[in-house]
Amino acid sequence: MEIKLSIIPKPSEGSRTVLESKVSPVFKGEGDVNYICGSCGAILAEKIRRGQIGNIVVHCPKCGQYNEFP
Ligand SMILES: [Zn+2]
Repeated sequence: MEIKLSIIPKPSEGSRTVLESKVSPVFKGEGDVNYICGSCGAILAEKIRRGQIGNIVVHCPKCGQYNEFP
């Protein structure tokens, strides 16, 4: 299945864990959920187990928006 992430404003310095990457997907796992950018639809995390990633913000390498993992 596929989950669309929510876009948030750029977090202020040090307030959140922000992952920056130049390539997508930023994560690859062994689960069955793809997380896609809420803005451009790029796959940011592929085959993730539900709950494996949480409370982080990923900077989309494609469109530059900040995506929040629930
Ligand atoms: Zn994007």
